[in-house]
Amino acid sequence: MKAAILYKKHNLEIAEIPLPCPDPDQVLVKVAYCGICGTDVHLYEGDEGSVKLVPGTVPGHELSGTIAGTDKKVVVDPNYYCGKCGKCLEGKYHYCENIFNTGVTVNGGFAEYVLAHKTQVHSVPSHVSLAEASFAEPVSCCIHGARLADVTEGDRVLITGAGTIGLLILQICRDLGASYIAVSEPVDSKRKKALGLGADSVFDSNTVSDNILHKCNFNKVIECSGNHRAVITALASCADCGTVMLFGLTKPDFEMAIKPFELFKRELTIKASYINPGTMKDAITMISNGRIKVSNLISSIIGLAQLPAVMADAEKQLKDGKVLVKLF
Ligand SMILES: [Zn+2]
Ligand SMILES: [Zn+2]
Repeated sequence: MKAAILYKKHNLEIAEIPLPCPDPDQVLVKVAYCGICGTDVHLYEGDEGSVKLVPGTVPGHELSGTIAGTDKKVVVDPNYYCGKCGKCLEGKYHYCENIFNTGVTVNGGFAEYVLAHKTQVHSVPSHVSLAEASFAEPVSCCIHGARLADVTEGDRVLITGAGTIGLLILQICRDLGASYIAVSEPVDSKRKKALGLGADSVFDSNTVSDNILHKCNFNKVIECSGNHRAVITALASCADCGTVMLFGLTKPDFEMAIKPFELFKRELTIKASYINPGTMKDAITMISNGRIKVSNLISSIIGLAQLPAVMADAEKQLKDGKVLVKLF
């Protein structure tokens, strides 16, 4: 079968590899679509994503498809949890001692077929397209993040960054009952998308000051860009007694100064969110019943052969939204 293999930084090649053969506790999935995630770009750039890449692995963790030999639609949770170790028994599945990560530590979805443990596979209702279903993993991460930020009825939320993640978080915050949602973003077309998906107001992050944002009294600020300046804005703009959720992935070595005295004076809570423990089913439900709209987040659909060139020019090629790789 055809697969894209990431050997090392900037070295992604399309190759022919043997069709994997499932063990009794595994399922062979024929991949339909696999989304290109910001994390894939981090891995391609030689940085760590949620975990370190095992060199020579097939990347791709936002995948949908069918169980091989059937037309049963499924998505794969890229993170395997054993359900038996101490961490799993504590409910901290994402820190499972036996975790493996499809598309990072074991072969993932930028291939015609992928092996998954049967507990990683979730069925998708027939009326949901497989292109939409490929958003289940990013939606599941966003659900985890919005819940950890305690977004609830009546909240005034500021989202920094209107990339795919920001636009998903926006819709989840609306679903959780936030009463006012603003989005700060430098790109005009993305601000328009945010308005189209229900943002109450948008700010140009190139021109709006942290001080003006602070005066808007946002009690929840969710940083979705990983942009270092935006992280500083997120902390500066949050209202007193508010919560800042640092959701976007920064560079691993990014550091910033924090004045504990200022946190004390403003009674700020700073939170973070790691992957998607137990939220895949909720993600599929939200996509399936239309509570979250994902189709208009797709900017283009490419073939596997185009993937190396797209990754090599990621900043330009991925800037307009989600790019899906179509396998079958
Ligand atoms: Zn992802
Ligand atoms: Zn475990």
